[in-house]
Amino acid sequence: MISDKMVALGANHSVIRDLFEYGNQRAEIVGRENVYDFSLGNPSVPAPVEVELSIKKILNEKSPVEIHGYTSASGSIETRNAIADDLNKRFDTSYSASELYITCGAAASLISVLRACICPEASEIIGIAPFFPEYRCFTEANGGVFRLVSADTENFQIRFEELESLITKNTAAVLINSPNNPAGIVYSKQSIQKLADLLERKSKELGKSIYLISDEPYRELVYDNIEVPFVPNFYRNTIVCYSYSKSLSLPGERIGYVLVPKSTDDGETLYAAVAGAARASGYVCAPSLMQLVIKECVSVRPNLTEYIENRNLLYSSLTKMGYEAVYPQGAFYLFVKSPIGDGNRFSEIAKHYDLLLVPGETFGCKEYLRVSYCVSKEMIRRSLPAFQKALDEAKNL
Ligand code: PLP
Repeated sequence: MISDKMVALGANHSVIRDLFEYGNQRAEIVGRENVYDFSLGNPSVPAPVEVELSIKKILNEKSPVEIHGYTSASGSIETRNAIADDLNKRFDTSYSASELYITCGAAASLISVLRACICPEASEIIGIAPFFPEYRCFTEANGGVFRLVSADTENFQIRFEELESLITKNTAAVLINSPNNPAGIVYSKQSIQKLADLLERKSKELGKSIYLISDEPYRELVYDNIEVPFVPNFYRNTIVCYSYSKSLSLPGERIGYVLVPKSTDDGETLYAAVAGAARASGYVCAPSLMQLVIKECVSVRPNLTEYIENRNLLYSSLTKMGYEAVYPQGAFYLFVKSPIGDGNRFSEIAKHYDLLLVPGETFGCKEYLRVSYCVSKEMIRRSLPAFQKALDEAKNL
């Protein structure tokens, strides 16, 4: 026998990956320079120079066992101390290593936390559209039910009334992501405060703990001096899932962490459950070399110049043509409204010009498309005639 659930997950491909593979096939036929692939969220900016220097230093100075051997399951104490110190300096907190679990990136962080929270008495996870599509897969694969609050396309903050109507005694956690993939917005302080107030009130009313999972791989990718509120300072029952995939441009290295503050309800038990879930998923001892790098580079922040330039070029060029788009405050995605109302159909039209845009349906927002601008500026420039032709074709339908 084979697990039907896993077969279904394997067969039900990621729309984003399918588009990327399609782009590779087209590149073989028409040439790479004639394909405008805006599908993946792979950072185009190299890792900061400090990362390269620290890798060289570690390779020269550390023993092979330190570089390549197992660490503690939860990660090296030095690295966890360094992360705790950095958080404490930035956010006026007092975390310690015992509240941090080093993981293989945000995906592993999320799976470990979801697995830790989902139980027969509380199996529902509530996400907010637009959302990272893997949330549904991670929830369902771990015995949970994924509920979705529809997108507030006015300002891409949170529809609080709808969220409230979904919170029941079966709710295990609410899952948020800001700066947001795919909308590029940041939840304001007011939104986070309102969310905290709502969750406090519902927890009291229902007589149970409702956890808030804050997925933050884009925390450091934020523009125009916009502030990203540090969610645990607003709501005590917050668990943070972090990753260095985007902030240090290290997605292939698989490194991140979970923060389970002691102050959360049943904090120590919750941490033990996260550790148990990481163990059961095989996500123990995150890559040792990368743990050493993070210890050295914990306070290094990304250079955002290229992303800001790309954002400005793409946003101004497309809106001048007549596209409507959400002005990105963070991450590296432009969320564009389909000129014909339906994102799937417009993605197909764009393909006529080898322009690859991800339909918004996969993010719970059918009328939009995601354009990843973590690509070369030169490709953005070359792609502009294709955006114009797709728009012209759509207008003539
Ligand atoms: N969460 C969000 C919102 C993402 O966009 C991504 C990756 O694109 C992840 C989680 C997974 O990140 P990681 O590569 O660190 O597993």
